[in-house]
Amino acid sequence: MESEVLEKYRKAGEILATVREEAASMVDVGVSILEVADFVEGTTRTLGGEPAFPCNISRDRVAAHDTPRPGDDGVFGEEMVKLDIGVHVDGYIADAAVTVDLSGHPDLAEASAAGLAAAIEVVSAGVTTAELGAAIEEAIRGYGYSPVANLTGHGLGRYQAHGEPSIPNRAVDKGVVLSAGDVIAIEPFATDGVGRISEAREAEIFSFVAKRPVRSPPARALLKEVQERYSTLPFARRWLSGDRIEYAIGQLLRAGVLHRYPLLVEAEGALVSQAEDTVIVLEGGCEVTTRRR
Ligand code: MN
Ligand code: MN
Repeated sequence: MESEVLEKYRKAGEILATVREEAASMVDVGVSILEVADFVEGTTRTLGGEPAFPCNISRDRVAAHDTPRPGDDGVFGEEMVKLDIGVHVDGYIADAAVTVDLSGHPDLAEASAAGLAAAIEVVSAGVTTAELGAAIEEAIRGYGYSPVANLTGHGLGRYQAHGEPSIPNRAVDKGVVLSAGDVIAIEPFATDGVGRISEAREAEIFSFVAKRPVRSPPARALLKEVQERYSTLPFARRWLSGDRIEYAIGQLLRAGVLHRYPLLVEAEGALVSQAEDTVIVLEGGCEVTTRRR
């Protein structure tokens, strides 16, 4: 990896590590969820990065993709809270998450962290993604919980928040061999539910996928805003300004210009925890970019 590129990955990771630690310490019963998201995204910019995607704050059985709505007045309850944060520097991305347990199930939060630690222990050039999945599953099962089978980690590329290879969170038959210089996000999810998420109807996060002709002025204005500000990276409904936003989003979704990221939910009554770090694969090990050095 070129040294300039490496420095940008490291800078994004250092910003993320700082923001994650401070944001996690803010999370408590009665605290505004929007305030935490605003803190994460604002502090990312103050420290010299840009959000690579909206701060995801998913609670209890919601595993991922939740973020405050415009003007959201919700507060944290006695919940299993996941903060999933993305930072980029010139398109080079750090992606990491932490669970703050306000629900009284600290062992479930530990289970996903143990899965992540086990995978980081194993990762190295020449190792397959299947070996990471097996290490993650074994660690999570050791706590008596299940990995969420249909959520995976992923490769990262410049301005690409979700690329190949996918990193399974369970033992699988066949994996991909990792190479030195691969940048991957490892993100185990542990649950006391069924171990599978499904898509809810609601979505608060979107991204640009393809330029297609749209006629209505609000849709054209939104397309311009999205392309200029977010390129292909995900953005939140609450980040958008301008007229008739709901109508414009609907038009761009129907035209196939935008992709939506629905909330991903476990079974009713289940809890989900998540841990995530970004690592650069090396010969004989890895460099975790999203931890303080
Ligand atoms: Mn993430
Ligand atoms: Mn990720």
